[in-house]
Amino acid sequence: MDKTSLANYPAHTYKDNQVSIQLNCRGASEYTKISFPVKYGLFSRIETREVIFEFNLNHEIKHAKSKAAEWIHPSEWLKRTMGNDWVYYSTGGYAGVVESIGEYYLPNLMYQTNSLLGGKPFETAEVAKISKNWHKIFSKINTSKTMPPAITQWIEKIKQFKPGDLTQKAEQLFGISGARTTVLPPDARHSDYDIIPLTIQDGCLYKCRFCKIKNKKPFIERSRQDIKNQILALKSLYARDLTNYNAIFLGEHDGLNAAMDLILYAAITAHEEFGFDTAYMKKPMLYFFGSVDALLNADERLFERLNELPFHTCINIGLESADDKTLSILGKPVSAQNVKKAFERMQAINQNFEQIEMSCNFVMDRDLPASHNRTMLELLRGRDRTSAKGSVYLSPLQFGNPSREVLFDFYHLKSQSRLPMFLYIIQRL
Ligand code: SF4
Repeated sequence: MDKTSLANYPAHTYKDNQVSIQLNCRGASEYTKISFPVKYGLFSRIETREVIFEFNLNHEIKHAKSKAAEWIHPSEWLKRTMGNDWVYYSTGGYAGVVESIGEYYLPNLMYQTNSLLGGKPFETAEVAKISKNWHKIFSKINTSKTMPPAITQWIEKIKQFKPGDLTQKAEQLFGISGARTTVLPPDARHSDYDIIPLTIQDGCLYKCRFCKIKNKKPFIERSRQDIKNQILALKSLYARDLTNYNAIFLGEHDGLNAAMDLILYAAITAHEEFGFDTAYMKKPMLYFFGSVDALLNADERLFERLNELPFHTCINIGLESADDKTLSILGKPVSAQNVKKAFERMQAINQNFEQIEMSCNFVMDRDLPASHNRTMLELLRGRDRTSAKGSVYLSPLQFGNPSREVLFDFYHLKSQSRLPMFLYIIQRL
């Protein structure tokens, strides 16, 4: 975004002994990994003696925290997603969080997931109060005659925007593609999960028995017209706040299995329509999932073309296991031999294409045969050197069951891997 466009977001500040307000704060314009809280994009902030709330350019609440002594930690905060979930970002005491998930802050979710870390922040009174009653708290803030008109108007607009409107907006978002995004790729952490969901295909190829996020839809591609319609509807829904986005998730569960031309069409059209060239947030990112067969069948030209796009592309492949016995237990209809071939192709792509990162997932569970970890480590160690590119994500099979023992297993496996290894926390939009 150049200086002329930034002039559309003039900074205004106001302070009295009750409240401090800053409109159009300029947050970081690139996602970063750092051990203190960073806010991204253009946003506005209000601070009282009790709370700090931050709002996006559509006057929708984005972040919130309490200043009460009962708040778990002063460096922790709540973030509201476009799907209208609250996520509590905790430090996890820092120790172990960055090694486990590759990020300095741990997202604690309101719903059951497979995370091995974190507590139950939503069960604490202060977090529950802020996430449920932020609008009531905000409504008590009075405008005063000494406030500049821009500040008064901003307060009034936020008061008009009721929590029910945010629920409705999330429903509109899900309605654009026809379904909620039930799982985001683990690599979306590089954009703090601030992605715009664009569905280029529905369903998946395998319908694996173990999978908790699958749906009944067979794999089917969307038409170009459908994709264009989604893009235009998303552009209108994200509206003024679009400038705070630079990342797209091409859903649903096997974007890589879609035709090369369709993938490229979706990425290029979204980039143009969303104005990523001039967005406040820099360095556009493109995320999607892929299956073993999609990767083995993918035309090499797809990667050549993706590498030339103005995106850094992360493709996450669900390998799950390199062991036939485990694949059969999981009910995943692929062979260990093809999993190994897919893994080798991922490494070649990571080496040959600077703007593409292929990552993969393996499951982890104490009840799986010993051959699962052994064959996985044979792949991850069967390389003559370590590499910083091509993360391997381990996904615990159990939901709602944080476990120290499984976490210990994870660290043990990580210490033996020659590729970066992290836990996959399954998160929805
Ligand atoms: S793991 Fe992937 S391919 Fe298997 S059922 Fe789930 S979404 Fe489909």
